[in-house]
Amino acid sequence: AVAAGPRRTVTRTTCGYCGVGCALDVHAVDGRVTVVSPAPDGPVNRGHACAKGRFAHGFLTSPERIVRPLLRRGGRLEPAGWDEAVEHVARGLREAVRGGGPDSVAAISSARATNEENYLLQKFMRVAIGTNNVDNCSRLCHAPSAAGLTASFGLPGGTDSFDDVERADCLLVVGANPVEAHPVVGARLLQRALRGARLVVADPRRVGLAHHADVHLRPRPGTDVALFHGLAHVLVAEGLVDGDFLRRRASGLEELTAVLADHPPDRVEGITGVPAGDVVRAARLYGTAGRPAILYGLGVTEHLHGTDGVRSLANLAILRGAVGTGRGFGINPLRGQNNVQGASDMGALPDALPGSAGIADPAARRRAGRVWGAEVPDRPGLRIPQMFAAAREGRLRALWVVGEDVCATDPDSSRVAEALDACPLVVCSELFLSETARRADVVLPAAAWPEKDGTFVNFDRRFQRVRPAVAAPPGVRSDFDAVHAVAAALGTDLGCPSPAAALDECARVAPLFAGISHGRLDREGAVHWPCPDPGLPGTAALYRERFATPDGLARLAAPPYLPPGEEPDDDYPLLLVTGRRWPHYNSGSMTRRTDNLRIEDAERLDLHPDDASRLGLRDGDPLTVESRRGRAALTARTSGDVPPGQVFCAFHFPSGGVNNLVSDRGDTVTSCPEYKVVAVRLRPGRPG
Ligand code: SF4
Repeated sequence: AVAAGPRRTVTRTTCGYCGVGCALDVHAVDGRVTVVSPAPDGPVNRGHACAKGRFAHGFLTSPERIVRPLLRRGGRLEPAGWDEAVEHVARGLREAVRGGGPDSVAAISSARATNEENYLLQKFMRVAIGTNNVDNCSRLCHAPSAAGLTASFGLPGGTDSFDDVERADCLLVVGANPVEAHPVVGARLLQRALRGARLVVADPRRVGLAHHADVHLRPRPGTDVALFHGLAHVLVAEGLVDGDFLRRRASGLEELTAVLADHPPDRVEGITGVPAGDVVRAARLYGTAGRPAILYGLGVTEHLHGTDGVRSLANLAILRGAVGTGRGFGINPLRGQNNVQGASDMGALPDALPGSAGIADPAARRRAGRVWGAEVPDRPGLRIPQMFAAAREGRLRALWVVGEDVCATDPDSSRVAEALDACPLVVCSELFLSETARRADVVLPAAAWPEKDGTFVNFDRRFQRVRPAVAAPPGVRSDFDAVHAVAAALGTDLGCPSPAAALDECARVAPLFAGISHGRLDREGAVHWPCPDPGLPGTAALYRERFATPDGLARLAAPPYLPPGEEPDDDYPLLLVTGRRWPHYNSGSMTRRTDNLRIEDAERLDLHPDDASRLGLRDGDPLTVESRRGRAALTARTSGDVPPGQVFCAFHFPSGGVNNLVSDRGDTVTSCPEYKVVAVRLRPGRPG
């Protein structure tokens, strides 16, 4: 007999980390990932990938992986079988509905889940439970993008394809650090700048691209709306607007002009701290470019007035006629997580059905109801922060958290933990025993992205296939299968027996995706939504004919500048901005468990050398950060990249407790938390 050789496979899939959506070839030997290489013909990455995509797969075989369901018995989480766990969840959900009605149950979905899993979970909540209490992690990041872009243009996505950035001659990059957080995009932007495009960076920190910028604007955190109005003021005052476009394709100029009159550069300097001359220089670069591009990140959205920030930034593209015309690259959010666009597109939202149809729209409810064979509830559901408030007040009896470590990533984390402790049934679908899983009553072991079948939508609205490169460990199930199992235990057949069938069904519910299927993606690689028909191409650049607003016009917005929710004072004299660092990803549950990304072992707090010396802190010193809500244990790192009076950290190491510091006050339109403006003070040493 001849011994069989090792089984080698190569599987094309889409990266499960950031929203760039790099196509990757995952090489495996005998079901174990060995090498990940960027796909040479990847639609977005074109043969490139960053360290996360290439190397951060070691977590798949971590001994810490949860491989059996866990049930809380006598206060302890103990291993259980899937049947027992599913029956326990179903019984708890039945009791919750019996005692408090369908709206006493809620679910939090995730960018880590595929579109098909998000679709199935929202259908489960609406059909099997009878509530719209389903939300996803975009609530914490780009909900203001969806709200702001919809209000300005009609659809909740970026306006153009990233391919067009190659033709841009001026890049305005705002509140984003793509060199670290979206490295493939960061590299492409840098290449573009090195080949001659003018570069304006707006960020309080000297982020990677700022080193190459023609102008670096450093506004005080929370003053973006004033800065954007200042830039718009110069565009209008110097005649750098497209008058014909504004007459034919936009509305709201009169109201905006009135607000801009109050935002001359010298007044903007007083609010934002940005020198008036820099405001003028930046506006002229953007205003005289033939093909200007705006890309922005969480520095715009994670504010008390994040939606106003998105809208006043969008004003610049409208004033220049750089959107819907092929002249320029419009305005595009750099979405942080792999499928945060898709999670919302699939209707894992309390006020929207798949395809961004409002829950208040009777025709949309009827259309979904016809496909689902069920009546769709018309009461808007709870947003994530409202779910936690309801739990603390005893109104929420069951919560299913899929792929989110809410105790680590959500603001005012200790209050989130209180909410989970108060909720009679918490179910957590997870890879590892996260902070959230530790507090759950039932933990369901979940498959990771290299083990999944389905699709993701990246930051420029591209659907791409996700294919299982390796099998999940025995005992682990995909979220897709877990939702089906719980629905079946409740006596509901959700249909959609496979991820492909789920996307096909979604295409019947959501006209925006009617032409998209697994089969088509397998043939074509990627398709941008909207794609209303299988015979039509996707829509890479939006709004060529008309905007998707009721009157077909882009809407200029005129929000007043309003101060942030927190200001430094004598007790809390520093401003903390939180963000992400290379090479980690969010709570770090995957990247921290990958040996070759283990570059740091704890969260660092960047502070200006002047502040460090005033406080007697040196690099590596332990310190305690205190806000009005809580405290965190970090390590000092001096950096000239943060301005004096400001400090910066990420939250990749939950043990530090960074999100204990952040307020749960959120954007007035979407409830997105104000992660970017936290008044703090520092004390040398660890918390006592
Ligand atoms: Fe590409 Fe982002 Fe994945 Fe890096 S993390 S490989 S930039 S998708």
